[in-house]
Amino acid sequence: MRRALDSGWYILGPEVRAFEAEFASYLGLREGVGVASGTDAVELALRALGVGPGDAVYTVSNTAVATVVGVERTGAVPILVDVDDTYTLDPASLAEALAADQRPGGARPRAVVVVHLYGQPAAMSEIMRIARGAGLFVVEDCAQAHGARQDGRLAATWGDIAAFSFYPTKNLGALGDGGLVATDDPALAARARELRQYGWRDRYVSAVVGMNSRLDELQAAVLRAKLPYLDEDNARRRAIAARYEARLAGSAVTTPAVASGVEHVFHQYVVRSFRRDELMAWLLERGISTAIHYPVPIHMQPAYAGRLPIVVELAVTERIAGEILSLPIFPSLSDDDVNLVIEALLEWSESVSGIAAGVGPAQ
Ligand SMILES: *Cc1c(COP(=O)(O)O)cnc(C)c1O
Repeated sequence: MRRALDSGWYILGPEVRAFEAEFASYLGLREGVGVASGTDAVELALRALGVGPGDAVYTVSNTAVATVVGVERTGAVPILVDVDDTYTLDPASLAEALAADQRPGGARPRAVVVVHLYGQPAAMSEIMRIARGAGLFVVEDCAQAHGARQDGRLAATWGDIAAFSFYPTKNLGALGDGGLVATDDPALAARARELRQYGWRDRYVSAVVGMNSRLDELQAAVLRAKLPYLDEDNARRRAIAARYEARLAGSAVTTPAVASGVEHVFHQYVVRSFRRDELMAWLLERGISTAIHYPVPIHMQPAYAGRLPIVVELAVTERIAGEILSLPIFPSLSDDDVNLVIEALLEWSESVSGIAAGVGPAQ
């Protein structure tokens, strides 16, 4: 931070350029474009692909609202599909939505934004197959999946382009807002670079209509200092998740389903129970705060309900919203604290034994 301050250069300077190169290299991709937030990264990734008004973009309803904000900001229509028991995009639901062929105003199918929710990569081989078959671009929303892998391959390296957020609580977090667009395609990166700064190709001359979405030097300096600890932090999250799994499997909550071949980075550790609200209150009484990611599916939120087209059933999304609970998980959480959470949860589980409280698989 001192280095950034002393340089006297605060926007799009050497720290941002170095961080872009370092994060791209971490991902094994050619290009990183620092932007102001993860929401902007989703918008800019789509705009770099040329997605805009008249286009339909498929994504999930079970996500942070930011995913859908980014899609709508391009002028495209979001078409929401269901998730499976990994909480991520259900390939069958995507295929069904494409086959349904109901798109408002005859919007043409252009892209899918796949969200690697809670740190678990979605079923990418299957999704890529369906998307390519339908001529869709693939954007990976990696805002919760820095460093996650599937079959040894990092999230962000499957599709055409990826969006990251560095909101402070993310697996890699700045001391404020930040985001990044990652891609292996230099032409897409060049488009994103123009768009993030007024559409300038040459300074003061806009080649296209752009916006202002820049990562600042101070945040880039912080991110450069933190990036070397990302893998270690993710390993700690995975160790906490393994401890939860070992002790909570067989209790009254359903523990997260992890697909085979996946290296989950546990941005969240989400259990399910149809007595969720009771469990949440029980834990809070014992000083343990939990959260719900997310309590209301996007298509049921006031800003979206009745406005977004619903072309497939969102049954799993709607059901799990009333059952999910995110337990505490972050790298600095101590083993003692993890044990306290486990003991409190098992005590609750005991108190409801004989009363069915768990839930079966999501499907
Ligand atoms: C956090 C998040 C975003 C948006 O990131 P911001 O930096 O808050 O704009 C987008 N998608 C998902 C899945 C997220 O979790």
